[in-house]
Amino acid sequence: MRSALHLHGRRLYLAIWVLVGLLIAGLAGSVLVLLYKQRSADLADSRAGVARLARGAEVGMNRTLLAVDVLLATFEELLGEPRPAGQSLYEQARAPALAAVARQNLMLRHVMLLDDAGRPIVAFDEPGGAAPSGLPAPEFVRQALAQALPGLLLGNPVPGADGVQQVLPVARPLRLPDGRRLLATAQIPVEALAAVLMQGLAPSQVELTLERSTGELLIGLDPERGLDERSHVQEGLALQDAPGAPASAPQGYTRLRARPGLVSARALMYDGLWVTASLPRTAALADWAALARLSTAATLLLIASLVLAGALATLHTRQMDLARGALARSKALLDQALGVMVSGFVLLDRDGLLVQWNTRFEEFFPWLAPLLEPGLPFRRLLQATVHYHLPGASAEAKAAWVEERLRHQQAADSPLEQHLPTGRIVQITERPTPDGGVVILYHDVTELHQAAADVEHLAFYDPLTGLANRRLLLQRIEQAGADALRTGLHGAVLFIDLDRFKTLNDTLGHEVGDLLLGQVARRLQGAVRAGDVVARLGGDEFVIVLLRLDRHPDTAQAQARGVAEKVLASLNQPYALDGHVHHSSASIGAALFGQEPQTATDVLKQADIAMYEAKSEHGNAVCFFAPSMQQALSERAQLVADLKQALPEDQLRLYLQPQFDGAGRVVGAEVLLRWQHPQRGLVGPAQFIAVAEESELIVPIGRWVLATACALLGRWQREPQLRELCLSVNVSARQFRQDDFVPMVMGCMAEAGVRPHLLELELTESLVLENVAESIDKMHQLRTRGVRFVVDDFGTGYSSLAYLTRLPLHRLKIDRSFVQYLGERHSDEVVVQTILGMARNLELDVVAEGVETQQQHDFLAAHGCTTYQGFLLARPMPVEQFEVLVRQGAAAP
Ligand code: C2E
Ligand code: MG
Ligand code: MG
Repeated sequence: MRSALHLHGRRLYLAIWVLVGLLIAGLAGSVLVLLYKQRSADLADSRAGVARLARGAEVGMNRTLLAVDVLLATFEELLGEPRPAGQSLYEQARAPALAAVARQNLMLRHVMLLDDAGRPIVAFDEPGGAAPSGLPAPEFVRQALAQALPGLLLGNPVPGADGVQQVLPVARPLRLPDGRRLLATAQIPVEALAAVLMQGLAPSQVELTLERSTGELLIGLDPERGLDERSHVQEGLALQDAPGAPASAPQGYTRLRARPGLVSARALMYDGLWVTASLPRTAALADWAALARLSTAATLLLIASLVLAGALATLHTRQMDLARGALARSKALLDQALGVMVSGFVLLDRDGLLVQWNTRFEEFFPWLAPLLEPGLPFRRLLQATVHYHLPGASAEAKAAWVEERLRHQQAADSPLEQHLPTGRIVQITERPTPDGGVVILYHDVTELHQAAADVEHLAFYDPLTGLANRRLLLQRIEQAGADALRTGLHGAVLFIDLDRFKTLNDTLGHEVGDLLLGQVARRLQGAVRAGDVVARLGGDEFVIVLLRLDRHPDTAQAQARGVAEKVLASLNQPYALDGHVHHSSASIGAALFGQEPQTATDVLKQADIAMYEAKSEHGNAVCFFAPSMQQALSERAQLVADLKQALPEDQLRLYLQPQFDGAGRVVGAEVLLRWQHPQRGLVGPAQFIAVAEESELIVPIGRWVLATACALLGRWQREPQLRELCLSVNVSARQFRQDDFVPMVMGCMAEAGVRPHLLELELTESLVLENVAESIDKMHQLRTRGVRFVVDDFGTGYSSLAYLTRLPLHRLKIDRSFVQYLGERHSDEVVVQTILGMARNLELDVVAEGVETQQQHDFLAAHGCTTYQGFLLARPMPVEQFEVLVRQGAAAP
């Protein structure tokens, strides 16, 4: 591309300079031709002028000499007349007639007659003079007389009689009838002849001569110097002496100054005499030379202008080349940039005609590719595209789409999106350019849309089950609440919590738990109508929102109950979980909404409360929310607030319930917590332990119980009657799960100086099962230091007893519920017998709690129970009372 441009540039330079050269050559050529022609014309003119002058001089000179010749010849006639006798020649010669003749020609001076010896006969100017002035030189006389054919002879110039003026002597031999030979002589002032030569013209550059063919100069008229005084010119004319012959005169040099020039020579009638006119070439060409100088200057000026124009054109071309190169480079760059752009690009001019586009655009709209060419109206592109966007639409609808699209381009406020037939989505952004055109960018936003959809799904849906999450649920309840208020139709929220899900999760693993949750989700969806919402709040908590129930609250409640029971029944069906067949149940709390404005959170909370109610009734039940539950709840909240004050305000008390051996001796006690509340009075643990556990208050409270019990044991060490007594301390799950539980226990014992085997920790079956591994680990740490463990409420747990062998247990505590019906329910008797038998096999002690009758005591004793606790024997009592009891017992025989 670049070299092509370069070449292009070079050719252009060449063309420019060839053109300049041709113009210069043409100009110079024509000027030269013109000058040459002008020169030739000038030369011809000058030559003609010179020839004319020469001819004029010839004519004048011939006439003048002829006149002189005739005048002198006249003497021959006059003297040839018969002379009166006695009259001598001299006398005859002095006759006035002759003198008159002699004066006829004013040009002639010193006209005289000489005899053949050269002696003067008569001098007409000085008739008396014996030796007249102006006598010709003897040599001239002899020459004149010696002529073969007598004629006028011109002598060479000599100084005149006045010594100043040059004169030309002339002579003509005369032959008298008597045979005597005379000579008529005279002088012609050179100036006079010069005037004849000049023909009365103003002096010009022309040199005029009267000369002999031998080169003797008779008269030379130099335009600058006047009369030339030389006697010879450089070289003779050596021409044929044909009088009046045209001048084949020597060209080349002017006669006087021998300058190169034009010469015209003409022979006179008189032998050997010539007149010449010669003009120096410089003079002949003076005008031409001026013209030539002017033309040359003008031509040079023109040439200079042409060269300058050429240079400017070259410079311009070079700049254009550079600019074009820069343009080409930036265009290539632009093309490259457009080519690699991830967005489609289209540029339209102010008339909506296509200017530029990139390949990405063609990829988006492949059907447009064959149409694309610069200058194509954008409307055409839309018309070709609309078919793909509205395949089945009518022609009007398509036309309307095109118009709408063009209108949008005018407004170009917000980007619009277009779905391509490939399923991809492009975002179209249109921006005006400064020159009134439009830049259109096509950006593929398919992934963006997908991501947005994914994000929305993540934000609103539970990833495990695909059900709505809490956020979406709250939105839906809010919306359903508003709808219900408007329509008067009720809605209901069912809060579903799986019973004992945690145990399943812990025993079979999270994967199995997840499987169950997935199946539960599907069953819930199957149990409701399409419009109803099913959501998972997290863990094993699900929520169903029932819409469009009856206007009447009772009917609506009956409808909701119907659905809830259907759900329960469905969830009761066995599950196939990774090879296991699992049975599960759920607790459902239900709350109606739509009677009054409520927030979604409130509705959900009501259902939640109702669910707890169902759960507290051992699950697998439906419970509707009642305002009394709310009441209980707020009381509970108050309880929590009060409980927070219990420790700092020293309201907690330890009660001890004695434990007896078979012989009725007190061997220890269970530590039972009481809360001495300023208003409520003495509050039992059943009312606040659960609340304390939920609110984490159990951790500091439990620590206080343990520390106080240890302190008590420590104090008892100093009293022999008390020092062997054991204390059983109840440990709640949350307390046991604390990371620092083991060091905390050890710390309490160490601080009080307690022998570890006197401290027994009561753990419930479910606590141990929550996290068996952790439980075993912590129990081992404490057991190896002497602390004993007892499983409280033994028998209420539902799992197998196999784990018992793995736990470092000391005792089992048979739950009150089994003891209660001993002697009444055979099944309970079997359970108690089994527990006792098993404990024996595992070499574990057994303590029975809740022993209220002698019958129970006897049954237990009969089957090998070792320790007894119950109202039959003693109720929980303050520490002082317990100590009194022990001391009395010890004192008794
Ligand atoms: P628990 O560990 O099973 O304690 C025995 C409960 O049975 C005590 O109730 C006791 O008063 C009661 N009881 C004893 N003998 C009889 C009887 O013959 N008939 C009947 N009907 N009941 C009898 P209390 O003191 O109300 O304690 C209730 C529960 O509170 C305890 O059950 C225990 O789980 C918990 N608890 C008590 N104190 C603490 C404590 O300091 N820490 C923790 N974590 N829990 C405690
Ligand atoms: Mg207990
Ligand atoms: Mg118990």
